[in-house]
Amino acid sequence: MISDEEAKEIKKQLLEQISKLPKEQVPGLKEKIESMGNKELEQFVKQQTKQTCIFCQIVQGKAKTYKVYEDNNFVAVLDIMPATKGHTIIIPKKHVQFLTQLSDDETKEFFLLAKKIIPIIIQITKCQGIDLYISQGIKQRIPHLALNLIPRYPDDKDKVSFDWERKPAQEKELQEISKQISIVLNQIAEREHSQKQETIQKEEESEAQKMIKHVHERMP
Ligand SMILES: [Zn+2]
Repeated sequence: MISDEEAKEIKKQLLEQISKLPKEQVPGLKEKIESMGNKELEQFVKQQTKQTCIFCQIVQGKAKTYKVYEDNNFVAVLDIMPATKGHTIIIPKKHVQFLTQLSDDETKEFFLLAKKIIPIIIQITKCQGIDLYISQGIKQRIPHLALNLIPRYPDDKDKVSFDWERKPAQEKELQEISKQISIVLNQIAEREHSQKQETIQKEEESEAQKMIKHVHERMP
């Protein structure tokens, strides 16, 4: 659930948006938002998002799509304004903005689905390769996570550009950033290792308890 601080910030943003609308269009809405509890507010925002997010509309079947795949957690559709022919988007059904908001299992499913669809697109479009593109934050047009599978053709250079200035970085900068990232990754690995050890220990303990119980039961 959202915290009191988050609720306060959300209420502030909502009230700001409402203040721009004519009062008769939203009778009582200001008072309603002000009186909402955190849980109610969270539900309200979710509902609002579902109604305005184009990817949520696609998931709910409210927008016209050319669907290629659907399961419990994901849909894959053709982009109706494609970068190139066969441009396909894989969209999680739940409204999340960032990859980190998917569970480990969902992340696995997400990329396994891409792995499944890619060779099919290549076979059908006869493209020469596929670029995978996820935009998060800056340049993200729709705040809903999506994996773009963009078929690449020999003559598409004017249509698609993922290029950047290939200027060598300062050695000091490379050293610092690589060190910082690897330190955090090592910390995570250590934490995961000790969590795993704890789980194994608990399992062994409960195994031992079971055995003791078993022995007790068999003792006359
Ligand atoms: Zn959405």
